[in-house]
Parts: sequence; C-alpha cells; structure tokens
Amino acid sequence: MKTESLGINSNSTAATLHQAGLRVTGPRLAILELLRHDSSHPTAEQVYQRLRPTHPGLSLSTVYNALEAFSRRGLCRRMPPVGGSQRYDGTVEPHHHALCIRCGLIYDLPPEVYQPSPPPPQLQPGLRVRGVQVTFEVICANCQSLAEGEARVASDSGSLLDSHTREGGVKCPS
Ligand SMILES: [Zn+2]
Ligand SMILES: [Zn+2]
Repeated sequence: MKTESLGINSNSTAATLHQAGLRVTGPRLAILELLRHDSSHPTAEQVYQRLRPTHPGLSLSTVYNALEAFSRRGLCRRMPPVGGSQRYDGTVEPHHHALCIRCGLIYDLPPEVYQPSPPPPQLQPGLRVRGVQVTFEVICANCQSLAEGEARVASDSGSLLDSHTREGGVKCPS
C-alpha cells in the first residue's frame, strides 16, 4: 500500500469518522483507510497483520473493536462468516458477491447482477426490505487449475503420489 494515498485521503477519512460520531484516532484512521482500499473483504486478523508493519503498537482487539464500531455506524459491512471467520467489506454501496468456496476469495459484483423488484411475495408481511445481497458460490480460476493439476498428477503417478499431493497441492492462496 502506498503511503501517499493514505496521506491524501486521511482528511476525508477523518471527516467520515467524525460524521459517524467516532473519535478520530490514528488506529481508526489506518483501519478505515485500509478497508476502503482493500477489496479482499478481510478478517480482523488480516487487517491487523497488514497494518502491523506500519503500526507496531496496534493490537488485534483494537482492530476488532474498530471494525465492529464501523459496521454499527454503516462505515463498513459485516459479511456472512466464511469458514468461521467474520469478514468486513469496506464498500458500503449496494453490491453482490461471488465467493470461492475453496479458497474463500470474494469478488464484488455490481448491483445490476441481481435486482428483484418487487420483493418476492413469500417474504413475511411487515418486513421492510432495506437491501438485497446475493452471494454466488463459485470455484475461482485458480482453484480450478489447482484441482486440474492435482487430477493430472493423480492420473500420471497412480497410487504412489498420495503423500506428494498431500504435501504439494491442496493449499489455496488466500
Ligand atoms: Zn479459489
Ligand atoms: Zn463487497
């Protein structure tokens, strides 16, 4: 991440925090900046790991508390947990997602991809629809080629390879 871009945007980020009724602190600025420029929909742990080199005093609980405060005030969105980990989305405008069910990679999709209107009649009466969020479950290109590679190795070397694939293959980058 480029430090110049952090500098240029920190004014508006500070204003955003202020408007949301949050005290402007160094860690909150850094966390919100990161979230706005990071399209990976990171977990609190990932935000912490990415900021730690430049913010050695930061703690994981500070990150977690900031993300929860942001999501309560609409500065970010909580994603449905993937593999048990809560993930956060810095893009608060309406959009949908494609989620790789192998490696957990999340892609943003424009809202036009799916716009049910009017809301389906099966929806319980009395509910007011505030938004629609669709997650397409996919297998990303990288995971597909990993799987193909494994299948090829398996057919090439037969039963010998069991231990090899276990060491070499299955881990997806995330
Ligand atoms: Zn994948
Ligand atoms: Zn998103």
